[in-house]
Amino acid sequence: MALHRIVLFYCFTPLADPEAVRLWQRALCEGLGLRGRIIVSEHGINATVGGELDAVKRYVRTTKEYPGFHGLDVKWSEGGADDFPRLSVKVRPELVSFGAPEELTVDGGGVVGGGTHLSPHELHELVDSRREEGREVVFFDGRNGFEAQIGRFRGAIVPDVETTRDFVRELDSGVYDELKDKPIVTYCTGGVRCEVLSALMRKRGFQEVYQLDGGIVRYGEEFRDEGLWEGSLYVFDRRMRVEFSEDAATLGRCARCDSPTSDFHNCANPECRQLTLFCADCAAGPEDLRCPGGCAAAPDTAGPDTSGAGNEGTVPEGTVRERTAHEGLGAESRGAETARAAERLNA
Ligand SMILES: [Zn+2]
Ligand SMILES: [Zn+2]
Repeated sequence: MALHRIVLFYCFTPLADPEAVRLWQRALCEGLGLRGRIIVSEHGINATVGGELDAVKRYVRTTKEYPGFHGLDVKWSEGGADDFPRLSVKVRPELVSFGAPEELTVDGGGVVGGGTHLSPHELHELVDSRREEGREVVFFDGRNGFEAQIGRFRGAIVPDVETTRDFVRELDSGVYDELKDKPIVTYCTGGVRCEVLSALMRKRGFQEVYQLDGGIVRYGEEFRDEGLWEGSLYVFDRRMRVEFSEDAATLGRCARCDSPTSDFHNCANPECRQLTLFCADCAAGPEDLRCPGGCAAAPDTAGPDTSGAGNEGTVPEGTVRERTAHEGLGAESRGAETARAAERLNA
């Protein structure tokens, strides 16, 4: 039986004609029998595709021949074409939906004005050296707020963001202005969100901004639970989370009884579906699992939860709304979830 694999990569590089790149990528993938999801913008490419190993290798080789894509940092992952419902290749204004495409400048070296990239080891060196100077490095979570409920860097600041689109509003609100002269490290799951976030921060006057290269995924591979990371990493498939070792701390608290837990469940209100932490006992109980955000009070008569349901049509890819589809998966959507999971390692 042939081997199958999924590859993930992103690359910030100027593309004068994203539509031409889209057509080329589509034809390339179709010819090789690959499926997956590729976003092309004038800022570069973000791709997750799967197929037979030899076909995927040829895809990567050919893609790297394109000027600007030579240095692609490709991550390999378990899976194959069957993990995707189809091949989707789209042109979008942004590779990651911050809602600020006009703020981003990209050149042959990647994002212009982004934070300094740090490997996991360099991150530790930075923390140590700044501490010797009597300064503490600030960790700044670049993910959606709920992801940090079960895992984050020790002492990290977790911005009040439901989706990536909220970051600009948060940064402009002034609540983080006191950090502007501090050493700040942004981190996210796989690094792509911080490419943009760190640039937005520097543009707003944050003086010393770094970003964790390869994100939490790479850090966890190197330091597991013996470094500065605490807890579980939220992932976007049926597993919902991963731990880097058996020593992982449980940071989350049950929304009903406050017991430690890392288990997300969708709010039972179909209009809400907010991912909410519940412990095993409460989850096994007879009561509906309703989030405390307005759904728990009147379980039988609750109307649509206005806190988020109205955003259904406008919330971008990779946001809370999309990540709630882990219940009642059929065989078909299960594959799609796995693929999304792999894709989000890029996120
Ligand atoms: Zn509980
Ligand atoms: Zn709810």
